[in-house]
Amino acid sequence: MKRGGNACSSKKQFMSLVDFKKIIDEIGNWEGEHIKNLRLYNAGEPMLNPEFKDMLLYLKDKNVSDRIEITSNCSLLTKELAETIVDVGIDYLRVSVYATNDVEKADFTRNSISVNKIIDNVKYLREYRERAGKKKPFIYVKTLDTLCNDENLFFDQYEGIADEIKIEETMDWNGTIDAPGSKKMTGKKICPWIFYFMLINPDGSVGSCCVDTEKAINHGNVLTQSVKDVWEGEALFNFQIQQIKDRKKIEFCSKCDTFLNDKFTIDNVDHINLDEFIRRKKERLN
Ligand code: SF4
Repeated sequence: MKRGGNACSSKKQFMSLVDFKKIIDEIGNWEGEHIKNLRLYNAGEPMLNPEFKDMLLYLKDKNVSDRIEITSNCSLLTKELAETIVDVGIDYLRVSVYATNDVEKADFTRNSISVNKIIDNVKYLREYRERAGKKKPFIYVKTLDTLCNDENLFFDQYEGIADEIKIEETMDWNGTIDAPGSKKMTGKKICPWIFYFMLINPDGSVGSCCVDTEKAINHGNVLTQSVKDVWEGEALFNFQIQQIKDRKKIEFCSKCDTFLNDKFTIDNVDHINLDEFIRRKKERLN
């Protein structure tokens, strides 16, 4: 919901509740297949959005997606917000941890919110979930191999709070960092994400993946068009065709190896036949 921080230098911006409702209503009225996963974040911190709680409340009982996920550093996870997340029935909370001690955390995040404060925030959500007799959200706490200097302490800090704790491998984020994880490549040619993933930025512009923090890919805008029109539109169709023909000719995608590592993307769609893809897509749209 908010863009900014280390991965992005573009102007910070929040999606408004009004725009969010338009998008959710259109997804809810979608006559096609029910969407599988609604992710309420991208490159920024969703809990910074002052209307985030109202957005969650708007989702209650809407049944717009099989699953709803939030990724957050949980610095701003107040008791009220934690209760809303549980009450609304959010399925999955991915907690991004940057450090196990305050010195390293302040150095990395440049804010003074303590490690213990974040642990307490997540702990309260877990306790409230237990008191409410609910199983959701599943609490997944993760850090990165490049950030974690004390693995035992990290696991100890979230033991009994998280449902799953993990140290993830860093990925290279479209060639911007030299990550060990990105060395384990498959030989895939076509990016699978572009056939099932839609990134909606706070200004309504639509891209194809969360790697695109600078809006390099633009398939349209869901505030001036319908979500369906963008998803079925010519811009995305042409982008998919170009990817099938030769991904390396798309400048932004040419360096990307995010989908090449099976740890990050298990799908392989290299078998797609271009003529068959065009025929079936046109058939579906007519
Ligand atoms: S190839 Fe990479 S940059 Fe391009 S759409 Fe796929 S994940 Fe995004």
